[in-house]
Formats: sequence, structure tokens, C-alpha cells
Amino acid sequence: MPELPEVETTVRGLERVLAGRRIARIEARRPDLRRAMPVDLGQRLTGARVTRLWRRAKYGVIETDRGDSLVFHLGMSGHWRIDPTENGKHDHFVIETDDGRQLALNDARRFGSLDLVRADVLGEWPPFAALGPEPLELDARDLKKRLAGRTAAIKLLLLDQRIVAGLGNIYVCEALYRAGIHPGRTGGSVSLQRLTRLVASISEVLAEAIAAGGSTLRDFASPDGELGYFSKSFSVYDREGRPCGCGGTVRRVVQGGRSTFYCPRCQH
Ligand SMILES: [Zn+2]
Repeated sequence: MPELPEVETTVRGLERVLAGRRIARIEARRPDLRRAMPVDLGQRLTGARVTRLWRRAKYGVIETDRGDSLVFHLGMSGHWRIDPTENGKHDHFVIETDDGRQLALNDARRFGSLDLVRADVLGEWPPFAALGPEPLELDARDLKKRLAGRTAAIKLLLLDQRIVAGLGNIYVCEALYRAGIHPGRTGGSVSLQRLTRLVASISEVLAEAIAAGGSTLRDFASPDGELGYFSKSFSVYDREGRPCGCGGTVRRVVQGGRSTFYCPRCQH
């Protein structure tokens, strides 16, 4: 499942093909992904010039000079294919640029989404309106306020999109490990000093993953390049029973229906 670093890598890869280009043609090969695609995609995008690409939480945003934002979410299995040499069975949406490049949004499980939103009201668009701050722009004092009085586990609160936007299970586990904070600790009980360390840890784990993704971008210049998925190594995530550097053993518990991995010796 694509997490924030994969989405960031995808946006940077798409930028290389799309930035400043005019959209010559689009093709929606089915009416829906997780929900219906806008019926006027072709009318609003054909002939428009791409002015800017950016990411918010786990959404990618492609802005045009007509004031539209094409917003995509990769869901569970979505990815963009660059200049595919043949039509993929799950290539559901295709963009062709004025210089002959082609991008295909491939999504076998169709948990992803495509929406077209006016850029000037994007902040009030329901999926964006309730989002908390970006994890790479967190401020420890602001996070302290957001967690004040909260008795839920810090692990679960960090997965709440209203508190921090786009931080997924893997990076919450890794950041808590790096900050030495037990995932079961109540959110309101974590001191400002420890939250300061947590904010730094969140930035570090995401920046390292984004850098790992960036180093794979060169492959996307080739036909059939696939954006966004790359291998990463983790300290605790998916390492149940494996040794931690401290000599302890990584444990797995279930919180809110999802696995948490942590080291009981390093995190308290
Ligand atoms: Zn340890």
C-alpha cells in the first residue's frame, strides 16, 4: 500500500513528465475507481496546461492553467505507468501530453480515486477540509495542544488524519521507536520534550524514505517505468521476534485493528 513517501516520489516523477506541458488527450477507460470519476474530465483537461504538481497527505494534486486541480489517491494498489508500451488491463485513466508522453493510472484493486476540484476551493473540499498539518511541517507545541487531554494511545492518535495528515502505520511505528516512546502511552501524557524528539523522528523517517524513492526515479525515464514503489528497510516494522540493536526483541501488538511493532526495552 502506498504511503506518503511513495506518493511524494510519484508526484516528483509525474512532475518530470507533466510540468509545463499541455494535455493533448485524456482517456477514462472505466467510469469509476473507488467512486465515480468526474464525467467532464475530458472537457476540462484537454488542452489545459499543467502548472504545478504537489502532494497533500496521501493525495497527489495536478493543477492546470484553467484553475482545476486533478486530485488522485493511489488507494491500495494504484501507481502511474510512464510511457507504457502496451495497454495494461488495469490502466484505467490515461493522460497524453503535447510532446507525446503518456501516463497511465493503473489500479488493480480500484481503491484509489480521481477527482477534479476547483483550485480556489480545494481547501474546503471535504477530503481536505478536516486534514491536520503535514507530518513534515509539524510543530511540537502545536502537536502538544492537539494531544492535550487525549487518553487514547499515542500510536492511534498519530494515525488520526485530523491530528497529523497522511502518516501511515509503518512510519508511525518507526518514528515512535526512534523517539523511544511506547506506542501504548496515552497521547496527553507525552511531554513537550519527548514530542519535540518525536516530531524530529517523524521528519527523519519520512525524509529517508523519500530520499530512497528519489534515488529510484532515474528508472522511470525508461518505457514501462512504474512510479512510486521502492524497497525500504525498517527498524521495527514487520520485524516481530527479530533482535533490536539494544539486545531486546521486537514485539507486535494489535492496536485499533492494526499491527504495532515496537521494542519494549527502548520504548517507554
Ligand atoms: Zn531496543
